Amino acid sequence: MMNIWAVANQKGGVGKTTTAVTLAGLLAGQEYRVLLVDMDPHGSLTTYFGNDPDSVESSVYDLFHNDDLNIQSLIRKTNIEHLSILPASTALATLDRQLATQQGKGLVIKRCLRQVDDDYDYVLLDCPPMLGVLMVNALAACDYLIIPVQTEFLALKGLERMIHTIAMINHARKNPLPYLIVPTLFDRRTRASLRSLQVLQQQYPRELWDDIIPVDTQFREASQSGVPASYKAPKSHGVLAYTVLLDTLCGVRASELTMAAG
Ligand code: ADP
Ligand code: MG
Repeated sequence: MMNIWAVANQKGGVGKTTTAVTLAGLLAGQEYRVLLVDMDPHGSLTTYFGNDPDSVESSVYDLFHNDDLNIQSLIRKTNIEHLSILPASTALATLDRQLATQQGKGLVIKRCLRQVDDDYDYVLLDCPPMLGVLMVNALAACDYLIIPVQTEFLALKGLERMIHTIAMINHARKNPLPYLIVPTLFDRRTRASLRSLQVLQQQYPRELWDDIIPVDTQFREASQSGVPASYKAPKSHGVLAYTVLLDTLCGVRASELTMAAG
């Protein structure tokens, strides 16, 4: 069965795209068939793998304007084996205004992904930092949500908005959306990192991952090389932290499946 994970937070620069790319790279490295979907009009993920969101010919945008489209025709291979991408185009920024009056556009991505149910083991949806039709689609389509939160003072506001959005989305979902809060860009030398981690532990004791993603310059270097960090610096602290996160996520999946079966 295809696993669909969304990576979202209503704040930019918290490590969403880095989390999506790094987890996808680790999964592809284990020979899982992985699809990355760029749901952000900024197109960072699209750029990461060498496509230009300003000039890309076909993208997530087309799925919202053509009901009969075959999603597979929009998917491209990356330079990494087993890893494909469905790019974003900057036109996605106009989607909310265009679709404002149209009902029933919340399940576009969920329906489209059904077409490739047999083709991928994991789909990772990289979300925009604002609430709109793209975020709603991602949260409706996924079966698990990863919320990267930068460990600094101003980060908690975005998380509060996100928790509020989940509550809203849950009214429309069959099952409440399970999620994991992942502290990112953690720098143990700074008071801000330590203090905000404490606040997270106090406020979200159950939903908070029990580990952190450290600040690691390898992530920027990997993005400049256009490959997931595990292909550039497999032994780095950052990649090791994401390996532990992936174990947690796969463990969560396993226990949920057991619960569903039992
Ligand atoms: P978002 O998608 O939430 O906007 P990104 O993943 O694009 O955030 O990260 C923003 C910037 O921070 C990028 O330049 C990225 O390379 C860098 N970055 C992300 N995570 C880390 C990390 N753990 N350590 C160091 N730099 C990071
Ligand atoms: Mg991003």
